[in-house]
Amino acid sequence: MPFLLMVFLVLVCLPEPEIWPKPLWTDSPLACVAAAGLTVLLSGLHAFFVAHRVRMALEKAPELREQLLTRYERGRLRQQIVLLAFYVLALSGLGWGWAVARLWQGNNGPWPGAELLILSPFVIAQILAWAIYYDAERAAHQAAHRLLAEVRAGGWMDWERTHAAAPASFGSRASYVLFQLRQKLALAFLPVLLLLTAKELQRLFPELWKESPQTVNFLGIAAVLMVFAAMPWIVRLMLGLTPMPPGPLRGRLEASARRLRFRCSNILVWNTRHGMANAMVIGILPWLRYVVFTDRLLEDFTPDEIEAVFGHEVGHVRHHHMLYYFGFLTASILVLGWLVTHIASAYVGPLPFALDNQSSDCVSAVSLVAVLLAYIFVVFGFLSRRCERQADLFGCRAVSCTSPHCRGHENVDDFAPYGQGLCPTGINTFIRALEKVAAVNGISRDRPGFLQSWQHASIGRRIEFLQQVLLDLRVERCFQRRVFLFKALLLLTLGSAVACILLQEAKTPAIDPIRAATGKER
Ligand SMILES: [Zn+2]
Ligand SMILES: [Zn+2]
Repeated sequence: MPFLLMVFLVLVCLPEPEIWPKPLWTDSPLACVAAAGLTVLLSGLHAFFVAHRVRMALEKAPELREQLLTRYERGRLRQQIVLLAFYVLALSGLGWGWAVARLWQGNNGPWPGAELLILSPFVIAQILAWAIYYDAERAAHQAAHRLLAEVRAGGWMDWERTHAAAPASFGSRASYVLFQLRQKLALAFLPVLLLLTAKELQRLFPELWKESPQTVNFLGIAAVLMVFAAMPWIVRLMLGLTPMPPGPLRGRLEASARRLRFRCSNILVWNTRHGMANAMVIGILPWLRYVVFTDRLLEDFTPDEIEAVFGHEVGHVRHHHMLYYFGFLTASILVLGWLVTHIASAYVGPLPFALDNQSSDCVSAVSLVAVLLAYIFVVFGFLSRRCERQADLFGCRAVSCTSPHCRGHENVDDFAPYGQGLCPTGINTFIRALEKVAAVNGISRDRPGFLQSWQHASIGRRIEFLQQVLLDLRVERCFQRRVFLFKALLLLTLGSAVACILLQEAKTPAIDPIRAATGKER
C-alpha cells in the first residue's frame, strides 16, 4: 500500500494546478470548497461506523477479539479505498482542483504550495480517520488485557503470551494520530516534497530552465542521487528508529554479521506499537547501512529465528539486490521513457485537431506513467520475487552447519562461516520464522491478496520452495543458476537498449526526448 500511495500522491502533484477541469455543476469556487469539505466529512462518518461497530462488539465479547479484528481490518481497507475515491471525486468532479487554482492566486501568479493545498482534503480525511480509529484500537488493546488472565492459564502459543503482556497504557489520541502520520504518510510524502521543490524552483527561476536545461538536469539528477544516498538517515529520522540496546541478542547478531562477512553501521529497532513483525535493510554503502527489526518481531521470535531473519536481510546485501534494483529501474525508466515519447508523438501527430504543448506533454506523461506501472508490476514483480527467494536461502544458510544430515545445533559455534553451510535444521528454523511472520501479521499464508504478494511471493509458496530444497539440496543450485541467467539476460537487454538509444541520440542532437522524459519523471 505505501508504494501505491506514493505513486498516487506523485501523480496528483505532477500536473500544474490549472489543469484540473472546471466543474459542470457550479461557477463558484467557494461552492467547490464546500463540496470538498463535505466529502471529507462523509469519509469521516464512514470511519466512525467502522470503528464504532468493532468497539461495541469488543466490549461485549472480548474473547472474539481475533475474528473482530480481522473484520475491522477489512472495514478499514474498504474505508481507505472509499476515502481515495471521494478525494478523486472532489478533485476532478466537484472542482476542488479548479477552485484551488482560482483562489490561491496573488497579483503575480499563484502563491507557492498550491499542490499541498490540492492534497489537503486527502490528508485531512486521513487524519480524521485515524483520530476516529483511536477508539477502536484502544478497545482492542483493552480487550487483549482483559484476556490476559485466560492467556496465563495456558493454551496459547508463547508469542501470543508475550504480545498480550504489552504495556497497559495506550497513550493519548493526539500521540496515536502523530504516530500514524509519521509511520504511514511521512515516507510516502518524501518524493512529493522533492517534486514540489523542483516545481517551485522552476516557478522562481523560469529563465534558468529555458537557458541551461543541461545544468538543471544535472543538478536534478545530483539531488536525486544525494537523497538516495542519504536514505538510511532519512528513514531513521522519519520512523524514529533507535539502536538495539546492547545485550545477548545484539551480541549474537553482531557475531553473525562477522561470520557472514557483512558490514552495517548499526542495528536499529522500529517501534510500531506492537503492530507488525518485519525486518529490513536500508543503504547500499556499508558505512551507512542499517538493519532494522520491528518491536513485535523482537518480542515474538526466538533468537535463532531472529538470526535467520537477519540472514535474509544480509542475503539481500550479499546478492547486491539493491544495486541491481537501482540499475534496473534507472535503465528501465530511460528506455521506456524514450520509447513512450517516440510512440506518443507518433500517435499524437496525425490527430485531426492540434494539441497545445501542455496537452501533448500530458498525453506522453500519462502514457509513460501507465506503461511504467504495468512494467513495474510484471517485470519488477517477477525479479523481486526471485530475489526474495535468494534472500530466503541465505537466511537458511545463516543458521546452518555444513552437515546435510544434521539433526539440530548445540550452540551458535556450529554455524558454518560465510554462509557456506545449508542444513535441514537451518532450513527448518527459517521456515518457522516465515510461518510466524504470516501468523503474527495476520497475513493469509496462501491467499495474501494481490497488494501483499506482487513483490514477495505468498508465504505458502516461499515455504513450499524451501521444503523442496529440504528434500533435495540440488534444487538450490539449479535455482541459483536460473536466477543468475535471468538477471544477466535482463541486464544485457537493458544495457544494449540504453546503448542503442544513446547512439541514436548522438546522431540526432536537435530533439532530446530522453531528457524530456526523465525531466518529466522527476
Ligand atoms: Zn526480503
Ligand atoms: Zn545443521
